[in-house]
Amino acid sequence: MAVSLDIAALRACRPEGVHLAATQGDGLGCHAGKDAMRAAAEAASGESGIAETLEQFRKDYPAGPHDQPQSMCPAFGSLRVGLRMRRTATILSGSACCVYGLTFTSHFYGARRSVGYVPFNSETLVTGKLFEDIREAVHASAKPEDYDAIVVINLCVPTASGVPLRLLPKQIDGVRVIGIDVPGFGVPTHAEAKDVLAGAMLKFARTEAEQGPVQAPRNGRSERPAVALLGEMFPADPVVIGGLLEPLGLGAGPVVPTREWRELYGALDAAAVAAIHPFYTASIREFEAAGRPIIGSAPVGHDGTADWLAAIGNACGVPRETVAAAQNRLLPAIRGALAAMPVKGRITLSGYEGSELLVARLLVESGAEVPYVGTACPRTPWSEPDRVWLEERGVEIRYRASLEDDLAAFHAFRPDLAIGTTPVVQKAKESGTPALYFTNLISARPLMGAAGAGSLAKVVNAALANKPRFDAMRAFFEGVGTGHAAGVWQEVPQRKASPKAEALKKPIGEMA
Ligand code: SF4
Repeated sequence: MAVSLDIAALRACRPEGVHLAATQGDGLGCHAGKDAMRAAAEAASGESGIAETLEQFRKDYPAGPHDQPQSMCPAFGSLRVGLRMRRTATILSGSACCVYGLTFTSHFYGARRSVGYVPFNSETLVTGKLFEDIREAVHASAKPEDYDAIVVINLCVPTASGVPLRLLPKQIDGVRVIGIDVPGFGVPTHAEAKDVLAGAMLKFARTEAEQGPVQAPRNGRSERPAVALLGEMFPADPVVIGGLLEPLGLGAGPVVPTREWRELYGALDAAAVAAIHPFYTASIREFEAAGRPIIGSAPVGHDGTADWLAAIGNACGVPRETVAAAQNRLLPAIRGALAAMPVKGRITLSGYEGSELLVARLLVESGAEVPYVGTACPRTPWSEPDRVWLEERGVEIRYRASLEDDLAAFHAFRPDLAIGTTPVVQKAKESGTPALYFTNLISARPLMGAAGAGSLAKVVNAALANKPRFDAMRAFFEGVGTGHAAGVWQEVPQRKASPKAEALKKPIGEMA
């Protein structure tokens, strides 16, 4: 029997607690023990190869200082990447409650596709019938007139049970079949789960390209050498980056994760790869195997753009004078945009998109005081230039930051504006501090070049200017109580401890 799962639980999903039964039925997933789930997966490994997959995850997505920052179900990242691709079907294999939450979230974020689902029960899981059902679903869906690829995603329970997606056929009538394990006990964030699918697709496409001719890009090959862009970004950003690359004699190539299978070949064919988001480790491994140089950081603000142009020029063999001419042409406009829209105030910043350090750079260059940046993503070589730049300016950076880290920073630095995840924003607003939700309001804006400088400052300044409204609201509601005592009372209600909390207070021997 599946348990129901609300969206809040899904967003804060962390496989903690202990419940080995989660691996034996359509069960508890999020509430199951992470270590127990992992041990079960390794024990069940066999044909599924999950032990090797988990080992690769440990290398690609290092944990610590927190094992798993609070964020939504990691599988959402892979699901979203699949759903955004043309001619691609996505099928989930997992507990009904997980699938319910994941499909709900997908449609909440505007997916216009159906999500395939192969249900299971204890019997089909234990007898191996589930794998047969998945294979049947893949065969039924593999219609070359409709699809280039079918993505099958094993969620926690089928992964822990060793359902061997690697035994699925690689192609059916020319439709590629990509089976991936994306367990919450192996992939720390939904950001990194995007990389799990993007990396698997790049590997497949690279193998195809090595074996013979592949489909050309939809609009033909670009005349200029292209720079592929790694990371989901605001639609205007690749256009702005194209403008920055043009004086170097280069163009902006496909954005990975791609929107279409054939773009994968174009990305692999690029002269270099810009790791705009720095956590795409599996994808970078494929690009490196294809012999492509990788450039970290991004063209944000004045210094970031200057350094990025130099690094791209160096990787693509552009003469120094050409790079210097491009810098002289482009940088004054960025400096002008930063000066025209200054940001005054202290801002703490946290998120789980992977672009947190870039946003912090832009804020600092705009004049803001940024004492703290928390990111759910790990430290990687591709964000090192940003770390160095920020730390030189006194910014404290916390990788794999937990909600507790972000809240502690909020309380310690008492910012004028908190940019963060939903619970951070909620806490800040409760205490009368303006706050902006990183995912919807910051990462959904242009960041690159002069466009980024102007756009970010606009939303941040509007939020900072809201302080008097928060003060007025707090004054208006002064004395109405909070939490269980919220409201106007003749007798303020007293909090009663729940029976569960009472039971937990008792020594173990006294428990029934
Ligand atoms: S797939 Fe795993 S991490 Fe995601 S909601 Fe289900 S149990 Fe939680």
